[in-house]
Amino acid sequence: MSPKNGAETSRKREEMTTIGFIGLGIMGAPMARHLADAGHRVHGFDLSREAVSTLAEAGGEAAESIGDAASGADIVITMLPADAQVEAVVLGDDGVLAHAAAGALLIDMSTVSPQTSQAVATAAAPRGVRVLDAPVSGGQAGAVEAVLSIMVGGDEADFASARDILDALGKTVVHVGPHGAGQVVKAANQLLVGGIIALNAEALVLMEASGVDPARGLEVLNGGLAGSTVLTRKMDNFLHRSYPPGFRIDLHHKDMGIVHNAARGAGVALPLAAQVESLVAAARASGLGDADHSALLAVIEGLNDRKGA
Ligand code: NAD
Repeated sequence: MSPKNGAETSRKREEMTTIGFIGLGIMGAPMARHLADAGHRVHGFDLSREAVSTLAEAGGEAAESIGDAASGADIVITMLPADAQVEAVVLGDDGVLAHAAAGALLIDMSTVSPQTSQAVATAAAPRGVRVLDAPVSGGQAGAVEAVLSIMVGGDEADFASARDILDALGKTVVHVGPHGAGQVVKAANQLLVGGIIALNAEALVLMEASGVDPARGLEVLNGGLAGSTVLTRKMDNFLHRSYPPGFRIDLHHKDMGIVHNAARGAGVALPLAAQVESLVAAARASGLGDADHSALLAVIEGLNDRKGA
């Protein structure tokens, strides 16, 4: 090995962080892979053994339990469905806080309520475990391409120490305030995404019912002021009435509940949020819970007794 290569290798080893990654689903799997690709030691755990084996084949290491992933980690990342799973995995008797070393940093990247993020930070503090809430936007494609937007709540110094790790997963990484602030911004994001999907669905139904070719209509709309990342990412789903997840309606339903409670907590009225919440609930009630949230189009079609494509 040349002296230069030797120096590079030892520098890499110094920079290598041991990361426990819990939750290897649609989002967590590609995120964990990026961290392994960046040279970190990624010890992954999920209830799905298949997800754990897939990470191990992609350069990570298989953890046998939450404790196995958390003990000895400099950083523990959780990417779990909702509040109940984060509470169980982090606060449970055999959970992350029972195993993480003092000084470790827990980054919860799941979308949960701001109150859960604050409760996790409060429980972690006496154990010397630092915590950030760092929910993401950008969907499965954003995770695969490592271009997520990451909205971070917690102490500024902890954010600074996590910056390299977060930069390996996202393109727009912003510290937005204290514990829970990341989740408030994520709730605002979910309100916007749900509303934009619903309005695109209404625009599509209007165009089709009026005899306009929907592919041409959406194409030109997307080039103007009404264009959006949502439309770009969901255009094919809309046109083919194909809704593979993606982001599941069930998860968006959970998120509209977070929006609802956050609005109540802040004492503000959000009339369009209430409409979006109802549309998402209607999609779920009609059996579309596992479909992508672009399936709001099916709800708007149902209201109009129409079925396209
Ligand atoms: P997912 O359901 O695909 O993945 C969650 C993973 O957590 C699953 O693999 C599941 O087996 C695992 N899990 C559940 N309970 C566990 C436990 N007790 N111990 C270990 N593993 C456990 O969900 P996802 O789409 O990856 O979303 C994860 C989070 O990211 C959610 O909070 C979601 O709202 C948010 N999010 C998702 C998207 C998206 O487009 N899918 C985008 C932004 C944010």
